[in-house]
Amino acid sequence: MMEKPESNETPSFLDSIFWMAVPKSRRTIEVNRCRRRNPSKLEKLKGNIDVCPQCGNLKQKHVLCGYCYEKVKQETAIIRKQMWIMERGPHRSPTVESVVLYKGEKPRPEDEGKRIVEINRKRPSWFTLD
Ligand SMILES: [Zn+2]
Repeated sequence: MMEKPESNETPSFLDSIFWMAVPKSRRTIEVNRCRRRNPSKLEKLKGNIDVCPQCGNLKQKHVLCGYCYEKVKQETAIIRKQMWIMERGPHRSPTVESVVLYKGEKPRPEDEGKRIVEINRKRPSWFTLD
């Protein structure tokens, strides 16, 4: 998933998470919970419902769950903001791969030469990109 971004602007890996994520699932979960009494409907939904590996909520298959979607959305906004601040700075770096480092994290040897985006907060436990 972490290919070198072709784009020279935004973090493409986060964009791809973003576009994949259609926040439909939240409604489905509510419907599912509210209509327990209707077994035939539940049966139909069942095949399309999955447990989110990140948070354990029910979600639609192949769709990021609504709960995680919100978290990713917020996190993406923070990272973007930080990148914009950096891009406007006087030391404009060339187009390179971006690495997001959270508070207390150090760049790995292989991160040398990459654009380091430092986020002044702790990495959320669910926010891994491997
Ligand atoms: Zn989730």
